Amino acid sequence: MMNLRPALKPVIACLACLAVAVPGIADDTYHDARMTMVKEIEDDVRRTSLALDRESLDSRVMDAMAAVPRHRLIPEDMRGSAYENRPLPIGHGQTISQPYIVAIMTDLLKTTPASRVLEVGTGSGYQAAILAELVGQVYTMEIIEPLGELARKNLADLGYRNIEVRIGDGYYGWEEQAPFDAIVVTAAASHIPPPLIEHLASGGRRMIPVGSRFMVQQLVLVEKDDEGQVTTRQILPVRFVPLTGSH
Ligand code: SAM
Repeated sequence: MMNLRPALKPVIACLACLAVAVPGIADDTYHDARMTMVKEIEDDVRRTSLALDRESLDSRVMDAMAAVPRHRLIPEDMRGSAYENRPLPIGHGQTISQPYIVAIMTDLLKTTPASRVLEVGTGSGYQAAILAELVGQVYTMEIIEPLGELARKNLADLGYRNIEVRIGDGYYGWEEQAPFDAIVVTAAASHIPPPLIEHLASGGRRMIPVGSRFMVQQLVLVEKDDEGQVTTRQILPVRFVPLTGSH
């Protein structure tokens, strides 16, 4: 994924106080780099506060950003760049999402520890891991089998027990596990997939980039109220890889 974001200023602070223990990570040599990334996300959120309608994100979300070892979810030769606040290649023409975008999409979902969440576009498993820090159960779908298998293995190695990875076309959702309290789509669709509206619970929220392939898209928040009425709100311009499949 390539995301638009404001230019970053030099980072001068380190948020050591946000360190959180991660299962399976005894020796974390990337801790300082991750804290710097967290600071950059906070700066980006402030710069885009008008679009986001807030100056800062939920502290639970930022704690998750400080906890998840992004370097363990990307190819080994990319690890030196793991905590740069930008998308990185993960093979098969796909990317791990930019941390700032992962943070705001997660925040806007307004999940609770009891939430059941569907992600379409597992990729590296990074977004799934962030969600798994916050909610009860994450279901994530990936259309490229080797990517989904690798993410499944890496997430299990990291000790996440509340993530289920399925290989398949997420356009059609995951009927057996629906409805979901929140849905996040991490690839750009030309329209909001109707099955994913059906699979969203009443009172649920969904984030999805909508627009043309390889062009700037709009990150859209979809809300379904308690009567099942659906409303949408454009949040900000982004650039994601396309949602593929047979639809
Ligand atoms: N969320 C990922 C992460 O944190 O690393 C990044 C996702 S990457 C930008 C988009 C992913 O969506 C790719 O891995 C791509 O193969 C996947 N994808 C595209 N179309 C899909 C579909 N119809 N169903 C499921 N996955 C799809």
